[in-house]
Amino acid sequence: MELNYWKFMREALEFGNIALINNEVPVSAILVDNDSGKIWYRAHNMTNKLINGTLHAEFQIYNYLLENEENHLKIWQNSTLFVTVEPCIMCASMLDQVGIKKVVFGCPNERFGGNGSVFKINYKSNYKIIPGVGHKDAISLLRKFYIGENKHNPNSINKKKRVLNIDSFPILNYERYISRDEFISIWGVENVKIFDNNYFLEFNDNGEVLCDDGNKKVKI
Ligand SMILES: [Zn+2]
Repeated sequence: MELNYWKFMREALEFGNIALINNEVPVSAILVDNDSGKIWYRAHNMTNKLINGTLHAEFQIYNYLLENEENHLKIWQNSTLFVTVEPCIMCASMLDQVGIKKVVFGCPNERFGGNGSVFKINYKSNYKIIPGVGHKDAISLLRKFYIGENKHNPNSINKKKRVLNIDSFPILNYERYISRDEFISIWGVENVKIFDNNYFLEFNDNGEVLCDDGNKKVKI
């Protein structure tokens, strides 16, 4: 079964709104079974509430499966992780060690990214990385958080006068994360201009890629 990447990323993004309400940095993830499409678990950052800097969304999924599923490694190995922001170096290493095969992320993590932004930690399981699914939405979620006040940060200033920027987004340089051939194998040669020109991946409601001309579609 081919998972509909946009459909599941949208679920992860929606769950990110819960993080916002809970005053957590809105990074969220869901783990989906490759065969059945079953969602094993969904999680968002909990570093503020639990005052534990390691409780990223990915590690909460890890902890949940470890505690509740005897075959937790098998589950990881037959699942795809959808995460709104590129996994950090710590989480990328964990994902490699549990043997995941595919990670789909929204926007890059420029400071700590472990799927290509800073390092590419993918030695053991050689998992596929699919960047840029929900890129703009993931950035918008983060911006919503950062223009608000973070009451857990004593240095936070009142930023309420700042306006949410939804007009411009940083370019996504796909080749930092994925080769041109890999991109074609996922999205089809008809969409390779997205890779070549660093266009954003855009989707219609059915999860079909919209090329920049708005007409050409490819089903995934
Ligand atoms: Zn992390």
